[in-house]
Amino acid sequence: MNLVLMGLPGAGKGTQAERVVANYGIPHISTGDMFRAAMKEGTELGKQAKSFMDKGELVPDEVTIGIVRERLSKADCDNGFLLDGFPRTVPQAEALENILTDLGRKIDYVINIQVDQEILMERLTGRRICKSCGATYHLVFNPPASAGACDRCGGELYQRPDDNEETVQNRLEVNVKQTQPLLDFYQAKGYLKNINGQQHIDQVFSDIDSLLRDLK
Ligand code: AMP
Repeated sequence: MNLVLMGLPGAGKGTQAERVVANYGIPHISTGDMFRAAMKEGTELGKQAKSFMDKGELVPDEVTIGIVRERLSKADCDNGFLLDGFPRTVPQAEALENILTDLGRKIDYVINIQVDQEILMERLTGRRICKSCGATYHLVFNPPASAGACDRCGGELYQRPDDNEETVQNRLEVNVKQTQPLLDFYQAKGYLKNINGQQHIDQVFSDIDSLLRDLK
C-alpha cells in the first residue's frame, strides 16, 4: 500500500493520515513533521529547514528529497507508507518515482483531498496543536473541552508559527501554484484519486477507506 496524500494546507491531511495509519498499519511520513522534529532537536537539517519554514517557503528539493529517500528505505516501509506533504513539486515527484523504482516499488494511489481556499484560510488560522502529544484542535470547528488545554493529555495548546494569517496566505499561494502541475503529473500516470474534503471528517475517511479496501 504505497500512498501519497495530497491537498492544500488545512485540507485535513493530518486527520485523515492518522486514521489511515491506525486502520492499515502503515507508517505516516510527513516531511513537515520531520523538519519540525529536526528543528526541535537543533540538528543541521533543522537549522537548514528553519529559515524557509518560518517564511512559509518550501525547503529546497535536494534537502527534502534526501530525507525522504532515507526514510522510505527503512524496514517499517516494507508493507507500504503514507506520504503526507511530499511531493510538493514536480521535481520531487520525479525523484519519488526514481526512489521507488530503486526500491522495486510503485505508487498505488495519490489521494487528493479537495477543499475551497476560503474555507482553508478559516480552518488554518484557527488551528491549535498540543505541545505534548501533537493532537490538533480548532477554535471554532473542534475546540478543546477546556480552553488552551489538550483533551487527550492536558498539554498546553499552541498556534504553529506558520499558521498566522500572513504566513498562511503565503503558504496557500505557494501551494496552489505548485500543486496543479503535480496533480497533472499524477493524473497522467493514472494514480490520482480526488476525494471531497468538504464533508464530515468521518465521511471523508469513509471515501478514502472504500478506495483502499481494494488494495488489501
Ligand atoms: P507542512 O507541515 O506539510 O505544512 O509543512 C510545513 C513546512 O515544512 C512547509 O511550509 C515547508 O517549509 C516545509 N516542507 C514540508 N514538506 C516539504 C516538501 N515536500 N518540500 C519542501 N518543503 C517542505
